[in-house]
Amino acid sequence: MQVPPFSLNKQLSEIGQEINDAVWKVINSGHFIGGEEVENFEKSFAEACNTRYSIGCNSGTDALVLALRALDIGPGDEVITSSFSFFATAEAISSVGAKPVFVDVDPSNYLLDLNLIGQAINSSTKAILPVHLFGCPIDMTQLVSLAKQNGLKVIEDCAQAAGSRWDGKSVGSLGDVGCFSFFPTKNLGAAGDAGAVTTNDHDLAQRIRQLAVHGMPRRYFHTEVGYNSRLDSIQAAILNVKLPLLPNWIRKRQQIAKNYHDLLDGLPGLELPQSSIANAQLHSWNQYVIRVKDCLDIDEKERRNSAQINKNACFNSQNSKDRDWLKDGLEAKGVSTIIYYPIPIHLQPAYKEFGYDSRLLSNTERLCSQVLSLPIFPELNIEEQEYVANSIRQLVESK
Ligand SMILES: *Cc1c(COP(=O)(O)O)cnc(C)c1O
Repeated sequence: MQVPPFSLNKQLSEIGQEINDAVWKVINSGHFIGGEEVENFEKSFAEACNTRYSIGCNSGTDALVLALRALDIGPGDEVITSSFSFFATAEAISSVGAKPVFVDVDPSNYLLDLNLIGQAINSSTKAILPVHLFGCPIDMTQLVSLAKQNGLKVIEDCAQAAGSRWDGKSVGSLGDVGCFSFFPTKNLGAAGDAGAVTTNDHDLAQRIRQLAVHGMPRRYFHTEVGYNSRLDSIQAAILNVKLPLLPNWIRKRQQIAKNYHDLLDGLPGLELPQSSIANAQLHSWNQYVIRVKDCLDIDEKERRNSAQINKNACFNSQNSKDRDWLKDGLEAKGVSTIIYYPIPIHLQPAYKEFGYDSRLLSNTERLCSQVLSLPIFPELNIEEQEYVANSIRQLVESK
């Protein structure tokens, strides 16, 4: 059996005709920029997120940049975020001229450690930018209260979390601004790049809208230097077909996560993502990420003898022997997995000169050497799920 990490084939066989019709409707209308499809999508997406406003844009990265710019964050400012994320999270902060300040993650949920944020706040700090990584919402009750106490803005990176909720409320509606990506592999995927910003603040919404169209409140009148970052009408038309299906897709992802948990629970050397999540949390499972713990391949005695060596090998290497052994073994059985993310942002060559202190980001570095994302997408069937789990079981038990 071959199990891909992600596939659109089955989705296309279900809704391909509808998408085809929606795309051709736009092409025949001749309205490729703005228009009805974009307005409808922005309205429905705001409703889905329980926010007053949603503004379509070109990508999730642009959504972050637009949010930061609209909040007047720029040179001399610091923004607290996670180094265990896709590069764009920090890149957006840097591209407006501000400095990303990385706080370590809680290894139990891969999210910013709320207990460590306080220490990172100083007089230059302007905002906290939490990432709802893999679709797991961070505790927004605590995070927003911490931000309020310190007079900070909250920009939610919801790129992987369309459909996730905290305390009954959609992510993207709890901070000052929410930033979504509709990159094809996200929970709600377009047929190319697309994104959106959500907010309840009227002035902020207007500023974001203007920034996304060359800082132009009315035609050929520019109040500031902005961007060309619009949501294409064709992408909006596709998203309009898909958005009503999102809640059901999330339920399927949740079922797959539960099945994986039941099938893999108790296997030695593996740590599964928390399945018994807090009541307040609705995880949308954009990724199901296991940890292959340090040095699975040696027994306890050997482990003690070579503790130091192994510690270094596992902590400092971007390629943990055990994780990569499992990944290769699965590949040989036809199961393709992905490592999100092999190198933390602070260790990327692009951020080398900043000199981030590894000692403060040890959980982040350790996770990068241990994580492995199993195939997950709504159409993954039970036979495929069982095949993935059985392949892992065989490999781990034959060690
Ligand atoms: C995908 C992603 C982004 C960027 O979104 P694009 O649409 O690819 O620009 C930002 N942050 C996170 C956490 C992401 O996963």
